[in-house]
Amino acid sequence: MTYVTRFAPSPTGPLHLGHAFSALTAYARAQEHHGQFLLRIEDGDISRCRPEWEALIYADLRWLGITWPDPVLHVTVREDIYASALELLEELDLIYPCSCTRRDVMNALSAPQEGAPLGPDGVIYPGTCRHREMNGFQPGEAIRLNMEKAVEFLGDVSRFSWRETGPYETGTHRLDAGQLIHGVGDIVLARKDIGTAAYHLSVVIDDAAQGVTEAVRGADLMEATQIHRLLQALLDLPEIAYHHHRLIRDDDGKRLAKRADAKAISKFREEGLSPEGVKALIGL
Ligand code: GLU
Repeated sequence: MTYVTRFAPSPTGPLHLGHAFSALTAYARAQEHHGQFLLRIEDGDISRCRPEWEALIYADLRWLGITWPDPVLHVTVREDIYASALELLEELDLIYPCSCTRRDVMNALSAPQEGAPLGPDGVIYPGTCRHREMNGFQPGEAIRLNMEKAVEFLGDVSRFSWRETGPYETGTHRLDAGQLIHGVGDIVLARKDIGTAAYHLSVVIDDAAQGVTEAVRGADLMEATQIHRLLQALLDLPEIAYHHHRLIRDDDGKRLAKRADAKAISKFREEGLSPEGVKALIGL
């Protein structure tokens, strides 16, 4: 099978050194495997995405020496496809609407002051709206996956595995029912604020649509991979491999993506640094 990977940035700001590392790692892996490197613009959050950031993504990647085939896939044009996936999950009775705010979630936790249990998406949802039935897609409501029902539907979830090829936890991983139910919980599949598919849903559908065989991305998404494998199993999408690379940190050890002032690739370019100079900064 031909190796296919992708870089999937969101155009919510300029690409920084962490993005450069991710894109260059994916590009290098595609070349090593004589495969393909694809680009996908994850512009689902229309309130935060801007065309000028998208234009800068293309300029930065080209400057780094990265090329990709057209057309570039955009998340925004794929709403109907995500909606069909949600309809399928609705038919299986695995999803429910949720109107909880962040505050509702914190209030519903038995002892939030003692530290709420955390999963890959932050606080694990306490299940307040779990009894509710779907009634089409209502504006202002999120849609959550009923994790217990999803696990029950699949039967022995340990049948579903994926290969990690990155520097951490390399090897075969399997889904684990207890971990999914208690360590992940009822994740959001459609967001009420933007009224569209949440990242976990769009990413698995789009990786399958682009024929991706290995997703290359930062180690911060390692924990989310079990969610992606579960959704692939529920939606009957192909299993892919994952390569979670190291994160680029600043001198204080802080993750660059978390810093508002993370230095943009375009800034280095304006300051006269060469692409090779940027690569050297991130250890490439
Ligand atoms: N848009 C996501 C990000 O920038 C992509 C994550 C992924 O590669 O799966 O974090």
